[in-house]
Amino acid sequence: VELTYFDLNELIGQSRKLASKLVTEEIAIELELCAEPLHLLADAGLVQQIVFNMVTNARDAISGRGSVTIATRRVEAGEAPLPCGCSATSGSYAMLSIRDTGHGIPEEIRGRIFEPFFTTKEIGKGTGLGLAMIYGTVQRMNGFIAVQSPAEGGTEFVICVPLTPPPA
Ligand code: ADP
Ligand code: MG
Repeated sequence: VELTYFDLNELIGQSRKLASKLVTEEIAIELELCAEPLHLLADAGLVQQIVFNMVTNARDAISGRGSVTIATRRVEAGEAPLPCGCSATSGSYAMLSIRDTGHGIPEEIRGRIFEPFFTTKEIGKGTGLGLAMIYGTVQRMNGFIAVQSPAEGGTEFVICVPLTPPPA
């Protein structure tokens, strides 16, 4: 783990090109990044890995045309608790949402997807380690993660991690 200060929005912008190589041309990667910087003190490589794992899962869930939308926003201290369990009582957070237009996650398995080696994919196509890695990284960043099913279908993962203003 190598901690550096970086802006999450900048990291996502820089990761877009590589992320687009993970999907077919039928899948659009859309960014909805907030205007202000989201400064984190974290391992940028691990955060990038979160994005790549999420995009890969979205790709596997989409047949034919579809989209993956990566969105960010700043959660201000004192805001009402979020669905991921984040209650920004003391400080502010960066929120990262990755949603896709794929087949969604059935209720029956929703509670198991973060377990290591849990996969619904064929042998050789999935290790079941992607979300376990993401879960561990988010925990170590003192963050929150949850999955939800948007009304319009598909899947949305929401992650919140504490912001750390860069040193003056
Ligand atoms: P793997 O991708 O190797 O199967 P993951 O830990 O990344 O392992 O994901 C575990 C399981 O969670 C997947 O096999 C799949 O059933 C489900 N899953 C994860 N992300 C999505 C998604 N975006 N849409 C639908 N199902 C998903
Ligand atoms: Mg995966």
